[in-house]
Amino acid sequence: MFDYVIIGAGLAGSVMAERIATHLNKKVLVIEKRNHIGGNCYDFVDDNEILVHKYGPHIFHTNYKEVWDYLSQFTEWEYYQHKVLGFIDGKYVPIPFNLNTLYQIFPEGLASRLEEKLINTFDYNTRVSIFNLIKIEDNDLKFLSDFIYNKIFLHYSEKQWGLKPEEIDHKVIARVPVVISRDDRYFQDKYQGIPKEGYTKILERMLQNKNIEIWFDTDFNNVKDRLSYKVMFYTGPIDEFFDYKFGKLEWRCVNMELITLDIERFQPEAVVNYPNDYDFTRITEFNKFTRKRNQKTTIGVEYPGNEGFVAWPLLDRKNKDVFEQYKREAEKLKKEDIYFLGRLAEYKYYDMDDVVKKALEVFGEKSNDRIDKF
Ligand code: FAD
Repeated sequence: MFDYVIIGAGLAGSVMAERIATHLNKKVLVIEKRNHIGGNCYDFVDDNEILVHKYGPHIFHTNYKEVWDYLSQFTEWEYYQHKVLGFIDGKYVPIPFNLNTLYQIFPEGLASRLEEKLINTFDYNTRVSIFNLIKIEDNDLKFLSDFIYNKIFLHYSEKQWGLKPEEIDHKVIARVPVVISRDDRYFQDKYQGIPKEGYTKILERMLQNKNIEIWFDTDFNNVKDRLSYKVMFYTGPIDEFFDYKFGKLEWRCVNMELITLDIERFQPEAVVNYPNDYDFTRITEFNKFTRKRNQKTTIGVEYPGNEGFVAWPLLDRKNKDVFEQYKREAEKLKKEDIYFLGRLAEYKYYDMDDVVKKALEVFGEKSNDRIDKF
């Protein structure tokens, strides 16, 4: 019998476990089906002493001071500002497409005319969705939006999602805008960084608490009939929890091939996207996150598909409707003190900071509401 049971030792589950164990001084059981903590942001030091993000590159960025301060209790940061390059027409150029990209791709006269039109139409320092750029009725800007759509969005989206950009939730496409400025950074958030010793270390420190017990290699489905608890936070897939009674929610998956090379440096930035060439979408060179010099380098080559580890929710109408049905079922379980949290349980394209923020908020609400139980 545990007062608190948490399913999943990813970011959502670990923050919740840490808060309950530290702030309330209560016993918590964490059940994790993998043999490690960290969920999707799990990283490890490989044989060449390079910190590798096993399930894909993770860059921490946020505007929430409370989230940055909370995580900073468990880590020091490498002050890293993320830049992504795209391999377009044989050149490495900044992604998202910005005014520097414009000058690197087109002859100066044309680039200058396009720049002036972009600034007059949208203002300097704005971020525009490709779909809004396409709507502009001007021959030069039409030429530019066709170029950006075809060279940056179309084939990347087909590889990444198996869909054309217009078939994907526009909010997802808007994550990569066209930027009317010369800021080459991928994110503009106030706080950005990579944890000095990695994400797993953050979570390890959160979970290193006498009140927390973790069962690894344990699938909730195999133990649920034997568990007894007062409050449960579930961070696994919501459709699985309800035995898929409204159908299976679809996810896009990814396979990352890790390769260690006998060279110091492989590519100019940590992440390079390949929208048009090859079958993979991007390559990450991990030692660029920590700027640690090494005789060797480890790269991760990403192949999205329908098989592999579950990465991004397919947020189309059909899946959103199915999710709404599960969400209603989940609401009913609140009276039994079962709560659903995190990307798999909320079927959400969550960044890490949003997951931490949500877990802190839910903890705050619940510990106020139900002071008797918490
Ligand atoms: P998860 O990390 O998925 O944790 C859920 C845990 O529950 C897992 O450990 C799982 O094994 C466990 N579990 C599931 N089912 C069961 C079960 N039945 N029984 C027991 N345990 C179970 N965010 C950023 O902010 N910046 C980035 O650069 C970034 N890059 C990303 C790159 C990729 C390729 C992907 C896929 C995501 C990226 N994210 C990034 C998002 C980030 O990974 C998530 O926001 C975060 O990891 C979600 O944490 P979570 O705890 O909700 O889910």
